[in-house]
Amino acid sequence: MATLTPSRYAVVGHPIAHSLSPLIHQQFAKQAGIHLQYDKICAPLDGFTHTVTDFFAQGGKGLNITVPFKEQAYDLAREHLGDNGRCATAINTLWMHNGQLHGDNTDGAGLLLDLKRLGHVNPGQRILLLGAGGAAKGVVLPLINSGCAQLHIANRNPERAKQLATHGSNLALSYGLDTQLSSSGLDAIPGSWDLIINATSASLAGQSLALPHHLFSPQALAYDMMYGAQPTPFIQQAQAAGVTKLADGLGMLVGQAAASFSIWHGVHVNTEPVISALRQHLLTP
Ligand code: NDP
Repeated sequence: MATLTPSRYAVVGHPIAHSLSPLIHQQFAKQAGIHLQYDKICAPLDGFTHTVTDFFAQGGKGLNITVPFKEQAYDLAREHLGDNGRCATAINTLWMHNGQLHGDNTDGAGLLLDLKRLGHVNPGQRILLLGAGGAAKGVVLPLINSGCAQLHIANRNPERAKQLATHGSNLALSYGLDTQLSSSGLDAIPGSWDLIINATSASLAGQSLALPHHLFSPQALAYDMMYGAQPTPFIQQAQAAGVTKLADGLGMLVGQAAASFSIWHGVHVNTEPVISALRQHLLTP
């Protein structure tokens, strides 16, 4: 009896050994009853385009893209982009449709999915976004679309925060949304906030941010996009300031994968059991 060849998916990056994406997608596939193969591909730094072209030429169905290729993926798919990908100018999901390469960015959808899971998507809330790099760019449109009243972007380099806030204001206008956008350096953030999202890479380097103390209102959720076995420096900083609602970015990681899975397979999966399994995986030495 002939065995069916599974559809092929993969994540492309450099390096890629650390990626949890195969683990996540295999669990989604099991949940959805879909037979697939999901690999890790380490593309040469000067060979991303060839890697993508080759993968789809050999019948591959979908790719996730990670550091440092998200901007190159945007260039490859620029004729057929989803709204979030166009706004982020960086792509983490690629697929073929009618012989054309399509791309989108699911980081923002993943963050929103996780914030919903945590019960923290409240229309009218005031959101502080720390950072203005690739991850911050990817979440601005979904955050505005969530109906927040104010989105303040603060960055070490205040000029980058200003540029992203201006971009966000234009997006809000074009979508007919009345979110107020503002910006500052990290040391000049005004007021206190309902939701504080750390999208800087300071935690990756084990550093905490030089933030004013008044930012963390006791009812706020402090969310670090970085995740790990131990609380990140940002989470520890928020905890020390009396914040009790704390979350790291593991749920966002699983959420962005769920949004890619939905694009490729048209199926919405339950992220909760996969987050629990990954947390266990992280805690196992
Ligand atoms: P980028 O390199 O594009 O941006 C880095 C940002 O961090 C910039 O705003 C930079 O400020 C700021 N920054 C770096 N070091 C410091 C520091 N010591 N103090 C203050 N600010 C600092 O990185 P990404 O945007 O791609 O990633 C940011 C974080 O988000 C990473 O921790 C990454 O792991 C996480 N992430 C998590 C995801 C998930 O699914 N959970 C998905 C994507 C990202 P400046 O402009 O001044 O240099």
